[in-house]
Amino acid sequence: MGNTIKVAIDGPSGAGKSTIAKAASAALGFVYVDTGALYRTVALNAIRKGADTKNAQQVIATLEGLEVNLGFEDGAQHVYLNGEDVSDKIRTPEISMGASAASAIPEVRKFLFNLQREIADSNNCIMDGRDIGTVVLPDAKVKIFLTAAPEIRAERRYKELLEKGTETTFEEVLADVKQRDYNDSHREIAPLKATEESIIVDTSDLDLEQSIEAIITAIKENIA
Ligand code: C5P
Repeated sequence: MGNTIKVAIDGPSGAGKSTIAKAASAALGFVYVDTGALYRTVALNAIRKGADTKNAQQVIATLEGLEVNLGFEDGAQHVYLNGEDVSDKIRTPEISMGASAASAIPEVRKFLFNLQREIADSNNCIMDGRDIGTVVLPDAKVKIFLTAAPEIRAERRYKELLEKGTETTFEEVLADVKQRDYNDSHREIAPLKATEESIIVDTSDLDLEQSIEAIITAIKENIA
């Protein structure tokens, strides 16, 4: 299982997992692994090949010959689809929804499982996702469940999208957040949920600094 220190951070979309986990990883000297990027890359590939991400057979067919890899450059994660760096291309609302749909397919989860495991077995890492504490790293030293109210998460995501120049409305983003919450927590395989030993951190009333501080403290206390 590897002798590395593994920290799992799970939670719904928009809870601030990636920003917070990135900062905490830098502070602790751990590798930060964003597993959502892997599901997004599978979705991007499926969409490029004309598959409907809700159609399991069509998505499974696109896994044939597909290579997804992660690289770390100056602490930043890059994701590669058959060698092409798609780190920016996977950050669109269409890919968010596609990833949410494709991630409910057991074959997709199986396809990405070993890659996640191998990275965690070779690096001290903070890995964020939906099923890290429950399925991918059940042996994680620290498990954190990071959450916030849907309206607050939608507000944060809305601002991010506006900054990137994506045309959307708050109502649309909120509907997306709620739909993805529902998909992620109601699917049969690896649903989003906290484990008994998870430390629950609700960032609704915390600013970014406070959230990062809360996570770093929780990790330090539990790996000591
Ligand atoms: O975290 P992010 O929003 O980038 O993830 C995209 C989608 O991938 C999520 O909506 C979720 O359905 C799926 N996902 C997952 N398991 C993970 C990480 C992401 O099912 N470990």
